Amino acid sequence: MNEQLRLHDKLFIGGEWVASLDGEMVDSIDPSTGVPWAKVQFGGTADVDRAVAAANEALRGPWSRMSVYERAGILRRFASLYEQHTSELATLESRDNGRPIRETRPDIGAHSQWYHYYAGLADKIDGRMIPVDPSMHVYTTRVPVGVVGAIVPWNAPLLLSAWKIGPALAAGCTVVLKPAETTSVTALVMAKIAEAAGLPKGVLNVVPGHGKTNGAHLVAHPDVHKISFTGDHRTAQAIMKSAAGTLKRLSFENGGKSPHIIFDDADIPSAMNAATHAAFMACGQSCALGSRLLVHEPIYRQVVEELGRRAGRVKVGMPLEEGTQMGPQASAQQLEKTLRYVAIGRDEGAKLVAGGKRLGGDEFRGGYFVEPTVFSDVNNDMRIAQEEIFGPVCSVIPFKTEEDAVAIANGTQYGLTAGIWSQNVGRAHRVANQIQAGTVWVNTYRYLRWNIPYGGFKVSGLGRENGPEALDAYLETRSTIMSLGGSYADAYAS
Ligand code: NAD
Repeated sequence: MNEQLRLHDKLFIGGEWVASLDGEMVDSIDPSTGVPWAKVQFGGTADVDRAVAAANEALRGPWSRMSVYERAGILRRFASLYEQHTSELATLESRDNGRPIRETRPDIGAHSQWYHYYAGLADKIDGRMIPVDPSMHVYTTRVPVGVVGAIVPWNAPLLLSAWKIGPALAAGCTVVLKPAETTSVTALVMAKIAEAAGLPKGVLNVVPGHGKTNGAHLVAHPDVHKISFTGDHRTAQAIMKSAAGTLKRLSFENGGKSPHIIFDDADIPSAMNAATHAAFMACGQSCALGSRLLVHEPIYRQVVEELGRRAGRVKVGMPLEEGTQMGPQASAQQLEKTLRYVAIGRDEGAKLVAGGKRLGGDEFRGGYFVEPTVFSDVNNDMRIAQEEIFGPVCSVIPFKTEEDAVAIANGTQYGLTAGIWSQNVGRAHRVANQIQAGTVWVNTYRYLRWNIPYGGFKVSGLGRENGPEALDAYLETRSTIMSLGGSYADAYAS
């Protein structure tokens, strides 16, 4: 029997649920079946204009007149309500992007911590007194940068929205959120939660839409003061070019090709657990994936064989089934991209150790499922080592020495995250200190928290999210210099 389509036919602008002026209704595809499961109203550029106007009005109006305690209180209320909706949001995110419920439920269960953390920082944004001449009084204040255009991808849409909305609202900014084309449902449900939490009208606006039209319009808009973007670095480059016109403030969280390094002195069972998880978590669609596994030569064959065995044991299936460990690729394009890279890896001479095929048959109901895939005998010049596949494909690369490991680790244009497995403390520190990445995990992997800064070196990003550092992206510093008396001398007196 056909499921009834879930309908979201309104945009959230200025605290109201409004019909679009110039948008279109777009199907949202369930990646586990390839069949639409929801219909969503996309906004057009006129809707973006309305949302930006509403965000500016709220910025000048109620939001700026509130005390920091009131703002923090609203954020806390939102955090608590959001937490109560964990189960609903997790189910919707699994429908939208195919991540298994056993991942989305705990993940989304932790999102409220981001909002609580930034609520706690709202009254700690202060300036400083600068001692100068006794006749002068000099101080700095930190003021909201203004209206923020928050643009997020589809792989962890609610988490990445929290990373932007939390610090932006704590800093006193207002937000226009543009979710990714394929994952708008959760953003609209989150807006309902924000409304119920009493967020003043216009503080958060949600306008789903196409990146190349609506996203680009938001970026070029003269009344948007900052863009906070997560996605592909090539999109970030286009945004940077367009933002030059208004010299907007920018922060970027882009892709990665993270080196996950296992030395022969590592706790091998733990390293294997982490390597398998780092390769296939989030259906292989995480920016922090350990997609380049660098393995010390003495243990190389052993690790390759074990990873191949473990890849074959990952339970691929329907995202909402509790036992499913890996769901489908989030879209037909992602499936096609992953399979294309499998072919590229083969052509380049890498050895396919596990997986590599689309999964079909009744069990997989036409969804975008692919086998967890492992390539061995990869060298770092190959495209499967250099390019972000964003699918469950792990490239295993041998190395001889510490220097060798560092050179390979740093030998891509990316610099988001890295992992190191070694029980030699000196070696772990030596290597960590040389890695060009914003996050280095030692004897663990993908440990993320609201209070730990996260972001990329090189093309992987600009600025940091999480931690107090994230607030910097949403604040301007104003220096006020005041004379305490005395007259201003006539510079032109003869
Ligand atoms: P994408 O760049 O194609 O799209 C991201 C968002 O940008 C979407 O909302 C899209 O509609 C919008 N967009 C597209 N073109 C635009 C334009 N010209 N102007 C304004 N907005 C535009 O990326 P994606 O495929 O959705 O996401 C996958 C990428 O995101 C991967 O590279 C992944 O590594 C990265 N990512 C990074 C992090 C991180 O924290 N560093 C986290 C998750 C994902």
